[in-house]
Amino acid sequence: DPVFRVNHLVKQFNGLRAVNDVSTEIHQGEAVFVLGPSGSGKSTFLRCLNLLEEPGSGEIYFKGGLINRPKADINKFRQQVGMVFQHFNLFPHLTILENITIAPVKTGRSSRAEATAKADALLKRIGLYDKRDVYPQQLSGGQKQRIAIVRALVMNPDVILFDEPTSALDPEMVGEVLALMKDLAQEGMTMVVVTHEIGFAREVASRVMFMDAGRVVEEGTPADVIDNP
Ligand code: ADP
Ligand code: ADP
Repeated sequence: DPVFRVNHLVKQFNGLRAVNDVSTEIHQGEAVFVLGPSGSGKSTFLRCLNLLEEPGSGEIYFKGGLINRPKADINKFRQQVGMVFQHFNLFPHLTILENITIAPVKTGRSSRAEATAKADALLKRIGLYDKRDVYPQQLSGGQKQRIAIVRALVMNPDVILFDEPTSALDPEMVGEVLALMKDLAQEGMTMVVVTHEIGFAREVASRVMFMDAGRVVEEGTPADVIDNP
């Protein structure tokens, strides 16, 4: 089974079809980039994938199981789907280490000792181990976003969804976040990325979906979609 199978997804807001009949599959190891003009439905599509938005009609299957149904185990599903937001969404009153370990510990996915060991290893990997005991406001935007990515990784997710992860960053911080994302893609992490970084998409995407007015109007390799529009 693919990680996600999306059939005829529609999501309306007050009669406006923000997502209008989108069907696609996301396979393990793919880095799928969702491009398109502002307001074309990219973020709504992404948020439907982890049920941050409730789909209006259509089906979303995660590893073969239908997730948009009344009795689906949404908590268990969400533990397997990482999400990285434009505005980081770190807890300001928790240290960096606590931000990273709270989900695996609270959900019972790891013991506190295991979660801490894993967090420390990830912090060393991204060169921010010295920040483990400070609070988010003491970090730069680029550092905060790399911590948000580590917070997703510590759950060993099947897929990570990125919603404009560099749009809120000062230009000099963008590169360090994209470098980490590129490493993850090269390691085979399955990811779905909404971004305006076209050059990055061209370099890293295994597949590009181009949206306009709620529909996928082109889908293919970066060469097909970006270079021969
Ligand atoms: P994109 O991510 O491509 O910029 P969005 O998915 O954010 O597009 O938005 C698609 C359309 O849906 C836009 O017209 C936007 O105004 C509308 N929209 C998104 N979220 C909401 C909401 N919560 N309520 C009403 N309209 C929304
Ligand atoms: P972002 O670029 O981070 O998606 P937006 O301003 O597009 O920021 O959206 C921020 C929030 O507002 C989202 O939860 C989105 O669903 C909601 N939203 C977007 N457009 C509308 C709209 N036209 N009416 C109501 N809510 C909206």
